[in-house]
Amino acid sequence: MFYIGCHLSVSGGYEAMGKTALDIGANTFQYFTRNPRGRGFKRPAAEDVAALVALMEKNGFAPPLAHAPYTFNPASAEERIWTYSRDSMREDLEVLETIPGALYNFHPGCHVGIGAEAGMENTARLLNEVITPGQGTTVLIETMAGKGSEIGKTFEEICHMIEMTDSDKRDRVGVCLDTCHISDGGYNIAGATEEVLDRFDSVIGLDRLCAVHLNDSKNPLGAAKDRHEKIGEGSLGIEGIERIVNSPRIKSLPFYLETPNELDGYAREIALLKELRKG
Ligand code: FE
Ligand code: FE
Ligand code: ZN
Repeated sequence: MFYIGCHLSVSGGYEAMGKTALDIGANTFQYFTRNPRGRGFKRPAAEDVAALVALMEKNGFAPPLAHAPYTFNPASAEERIWTYSRDSMREDLEVLETIPGALYNFHPGCHVGIGAEAGMENTARLLNEVITPGQGTTVLIETMAGKGSEIGKTFEEICHMIEMTDSDKRDRVGVCLDTCHISDGGYNIAGATEEVLDRFDSVIGLDRLCAVHLNDSKNPLGAAKDRHEKIGEGSLGIEGIERIVNSPRIKSLPFYLETPNELDGYAREIALLKELRKG
């Protein structure tokens, strides 16, 4: 099964996202758990979430990917920011327990001058405080482009953060691979797909990889920029994207588009990807 979806707005509610996904030919989707650049939080109605879960079951969806807002910085040395990130993440995870098998993606953060090692320690400490052994949701560290003081730009850094989580919580920690980010970070995922996945496997282990953010990039390999481009219109190119969605080791994973599109553009990209996909 090819699990493909895109980022959707949560503004119309949870069940509405499932319906929109069906409308555009998707069988999964991503959404922000709260305003990505603000601080408000509105807990979704339990009935609305239950209606989404029923819709997803009926239509054979892959689990939705909930994305934490950009206002979190788990790597921060500032107590106020770190605590806000931790408490909000706990709140998000509480809601997600009502969606079976949900995935929760977050940016490991920016160290803002304290150094990558100290930043990674802060992020791992936060994970240890928010993850409950036995919870249903897997928390995914997103691979980053390395813009500014971002941590998580190498597979080694991602692995290091995972290794710093408590052993009884570690099976609830996974990775979301963003194809634009890692290309901008210097991994030639488009041109040398299998070699990059080999590298991922030897450093982190492919068993940790739970989701793919499928994006083209406006910038060349290694640019450390993070500007997403429409599928086939950037430096990864259509052939690179085709290799990625057909790679035998990751083709069973859910793919989520975060390309600069409105719904009609997403519908076209999903149709195109279904054509590129073999089996
Ligand atoms: Fe992200
Ligand atoms: Fe992403
Ligand atoms: Zn990005």
